[in-house]
Amino acid sequence: MNTQLKPQTIQLDGSIGEGGGQILRTALSLSMLTGIPFELVNIRAGRKKPGLMRQHLVCVQASQRISNATVEGAELHSQKLYFQPQQVQTGKYDFQIGSAGSTILVLQTLLPALMMQAEASHINIHGGTHNPMAPTADFISHCFLPNLQKIGIQVDFECERAGFFPIGAGQINATIQPWTTQTQYTVLKKGKLIEVNGFATALNIPSNIADRELEVLNNKLDLTQRKRLNFQGISQGNTAFVILNYEHHQQVFSALGEMKKSAEKVAHDLAKQVKTYLATDAVADEYLTDQLLLPLALGKGGEFSAQMISEHTRTQAAMIQKFIDCEIHFEKIDDIFKVSVKI
Ligand code: AMP
Repeated sequence: MNTQLKPQTIQLDGSIGEGGGQILRTALSLSMLTGIPFELVNIRAGRKKPGLMRQHLVCVQASQRISNATVEGAELHSQKLYFQPQQVQTGKYDFQIGSAGSTILVLQTLLPALMMQAEASHINIHGGTHNPMAPTADFISHCFLPNLQKIGIQVDFECERAGFFPIGAGQINATIQPWTTQTQYTVLKKGKLIEVNGFATALNIPSNIADRELEVLNNKLDLTQRKRLNFQGISQGNTAFVILNYEHHQQVFSALGEMKKSAEKVAHDLAKQVKTYLATDAVADEYLTDQLLLPLALGKGGEFSAQMISEHTRTQAAMIQKFIDCEIHFEKIDDIFKVSVKI
């Protein structure tokens, strides 16, 4: 790689803060949006297997494709990457992860650049749809996207086939509309709790796994509705999720089945997470908090209350402020936080 810095290149160190793949994905999103090239060193230095894994490489390749970028260091296990985008091109795209890597994280990498264009884009992504340490397709459909809709971002999203580790073979389809009407996101109070709905699915494994999870969720959370879902797909897997409908907010918590973990324990741990959230006045959970920062910084900003500020969230805020002129603040108020994004 050419070690001399290209003009205006932003230098990034992947080992700072949380040290995971988010630094790479956010750098790609922001570079495509602003046109500013970046050089990232120490990629995923904080992880057991550092460097670019297959799913990170697909994020780089997909970003390269939509922005016709000049890229150096895009190889498996590479710990250094240079990325210089050109104009983002809308259109129809199909991306194959070729493993059970998360399709959702690829979508979240491309979304900011595509939604800021004047025309719609249609993208299909093949791979995992329900991965540990990533938003699930259900979290995207029922939590992330409905929250983006509040500020005017329109994405039609469908999980056509579910994909679980290790086979994957899932497919998500998304139509991303131009973001024409931007509004502020101001949700400091979630309001009255209206419904607590539980869902579970068992794909190509015994359906009583999902039924047992719903039973435990109902016992612990007194569900308004419960439903066993039938997913399509060739992989095997299990997920359970809870949708909390409040007057001013919709929040989702999800869990994945694991080998050697009983369905009862999966549901018990999920219910515990939900109960912790129910006991606070916060609007956004830990994960929605880090995922909302970028859309807010690209639009008209806003304020919301958050259950906690993770290392991910702090790293994300620092990354955004390197590329975009905005101010992101976290203020502790009693046992929750107020997040403000000022443009
Ligand atoms: P990284 O670990 O850096 O690859 O980033 C993981 C991303 O996945 C972050 O944006 C998290 O908010 C998100 N994430 C992880 N676990 C969950 C979960 N259970 N529900 C929703 N989002 C999640």
